[in-house]
Amino acid sequence: MLNSKTKSDITMAKKIDSRIPEGPIAEKWTNYKAHQRLVNPKNKLKLDVIVVGTGLAGASAAASLAEMGFNVYNFCIQDSPRRAHSIAAQGGINAAKNYQNDGDSVYRLFYDTVKGGDYRAREANVYRLAEVSNDIIDQCVAQGVPFAREYGGMLDNRSFGGAQVSRTFYAKGQTGQQLLLGAYSSLSKEVQKGKVKLYTRYEMEDVVIIDGRARGIIAKNLVTGKLERFSANAVVIATGGYGNAYFLSTNAMGCNCTAAIQCYRKGAMMANPSYVQIHPTCIPVHGDKQSKLTLMSESLRNDGRIWVPKKLEDAKKLQKGEIQAWDIPEEDRDYYLERRYPAFGNLVPRDVASRAAKERCDKGFGVNNTGLAVFLDFSESINRLGLDAMKQRYGNLFDMYEEITDIYPGDFGKEINGVKYYKPMMIFPAIHYTMGGVWVDYELQTTIPGLFAIGECNFSDHGANRLGASALMQGLADGYFVLPYTIQNYLADQAIWPRLSTDMPEFDAAEKAVAAEIDRLMNIKGKRSVDSIHKELGHIMWEHVGMGRTKEGLEEGLKLLKDLRKEFDSNLFIPGSKEGMNVELDKAIHLRDFILMGELVAYDALHREESCGGHFREEHQTEEGEAKRDDENFFYVGCWDYQGSDEKAPELIKEPLNYEIIKVQQRNYKN
Ligand SMILES: Cc1cc2nc3c(=O)[nH]c(=O)nc-3n(C[C@H](O)[C@H](O)[C@H](O)COP(=O)(O)OP(=O)(O)OC[C@H]3O[C@@H](n4cnc5c(N)ncnc54)[C@H](O)[C@@H]3O)c2cc1C
Repeated sequence: MLNSKTKSDITMAKKIDSRIPEGPIAEKWTNYKAHQRLVNPKNKLKLDVIVVGTGLAGASAAASLAEMGFNVYNFCIQDSPRRAHSIAAQGGINAAKNYQNDGDSVYRLFYDTVKGGDYRAREANVYRLAEVSNDIIDQCVAQGVPFAREYGGMLDNRSFGGAQVSRTFYAKGQTGQQLLLGAYSSLSKEVQKGKVKLYTRYEMEDVVIIDGRARGIIAKNLVTGKLERFSANAVVIATGGYGNAYFLSTNAMGCNCTAAIQCYRKGAMMANPSYVQIHPTCIPVHGDKQSKLTLMSESLRNDGRIWVPKKLEDAKKLQKGEIQAWDIPEEDRDYYLERRYPAFGNLVPRDVASRAAKERCDKGFGVNNTGLAVFLDFSESINRLGLDAMKQRYGNLFDMYEEITDIYPGDFGKEINGVKYYKPMMIFPAIHYTMGGVWVDYELQTTIPGLFAIGECNFSDHGANRLGASALMQGLADGYFVLPYTIQNYLADQAIWPRLSTDMPEFDAAEKAVAAEIDRLMNIKGKRSVDSIHKELGHIMWEHVGMGRTKEGLEEGLKLLKDLRKEFDSNLFIPGSKEGMNVELDKAIHLRDFILMGELVAYDALHREESCGGHFREEHQTEEGEAKRDDENFFYVGCWDYQGSDEKAPELIKEPLNYEIIKVQQRNYKN
């Protein structure tokens, strides 16, 4: 029964109902699909769906819903759907195909993902994700996505962190680009058929609620500056993550959380905001004029080995530039991940690898002039397989590294005692992905009926830490295979509603409120640029709500965030006018929402008196420095409810987790 309440639902606090179907975990999704309500073909023609976002989640959902017969209005802030941030994804996408015959299965992918998320994800969602993973690969191959193939023509795989099998499908270091081109081709077909109407360079500023349901959006035409109204029977947001709240991150500069935060202000709860991912292999920060960080894909850890010197004096010399990596022989290198985690070695999950890098650097073993870097070295693989093999696997990543640092990883360094050493990459952890996001139930519906959230902007499947190559899997699972079913369960009785006019008072009020807010921002007329305040926000977030968090640090961070909001409200300067294109105004709107998002991250991190996955509270660690969970008190999804004003602290509501088959235990990547 779809709507019946499980035992955990009954204990749930107000407004939260995860709507997990009953039955054994492996049958839930099949049963759901067999019993959900459907919309008949004629009614589909009467129903409009707004999809905000054209990344992998949004484009796949828009194309699928249109193909099914719904009328779709698809929005993005870029000039083309193909410029969505998903295009940047490098390393690959997971699926449980077991092509390598190395023991993979749906269950193992499910298990690895729940364990990788430090037992803080919803079991039923993750099982469904693993189940549909194989369909994604078939879908994308059918679209012509050029996944890497082996000599015999079969699809190739490589390994990603947190797994002992090779289940990652990839297209060189450009997997996101190829997948997005596939989704875009499906989308374009529907645009051509007239089933999708594309609105590029439009930004959703608000969701319009009528009688408690999402019935439309207010969007700003980013070229003319005009506000426009759009109505629909359901609204889907697929607007990506909030990593840029930290200013420096691997995300594209345009990534923002405005749509998600505006939905939060209107009643959609925000879940687990403190679960942010800090990726271990990024090019280190090199100065305070920098506006962005660059990822070096986790896939490099298949062939690259992470190390720092064993001797502190070698580290000091490296920091002063007196010696180079290739001056240090094998016996003086500390491959600390292989040493600490023999079973998974360099392929431990990201949170574990990031913390281990920080620990070494904190102890003084960092290898660049700031002391905040470790080596990622391909010497062993080059000696074994040759440089050409490395170039075939990671050519564009090596080139990208060279363009940024002027060093080609793989150039010959020195031979010591008959062993050839090549130039390594230098890497350091950086903000990369956000596991938290808009709370959704099993149907991907938020706490506002008719409002759905998919892809990175929801909180759904990764728990406290996302395993590599799982974001693309989740975004495409949501867009191609989950939402197209679940949204019908909502839309089934919506065809009786006439298409709502955008002249209704609710649209009027929403547009006026957005216009007034834009006027307010333009009229602050202070002295500070958006970027200078954003940079300060980033410093607060990294220092107080970053890799290692403490009660005192978080309290101080919250105070600083409140002060920063005051500074924003009184001293912001936006040049130009609100008419026409004004990029500074658009950035100011994003920054206003990053500050609120930053506070949510801090509130959540402060209340969660445990360490799990990407959320590391220094007070809660094992003797070996590993994350120490408190399952007795924190085995739940933390959902935050807006209290009517940005100034007020949000209210915490808990969705208890309910594991039926996985035994919750301490994560172990050592043996
Ligand atoms: C450098 C990098 C490499 C990565 N590599 C991998 C990888 O190898 N494997 C993996 O699984 N994951 C990877 N990830 C993560 C993955 O790329 C993202 O999580 C995923 O692509 C997000 O997809 P999405 O569709 O949810 O959002 P996005 O791709 O971010 O798309 C968001 C869309 O929303 C639109 N939008 C945003 N706000 C608004 C608004 N207010 N109004 C209108 N439109 C709006 C944007 O225009 C865009 O179209 C990587 C991430 C980075 C940063």
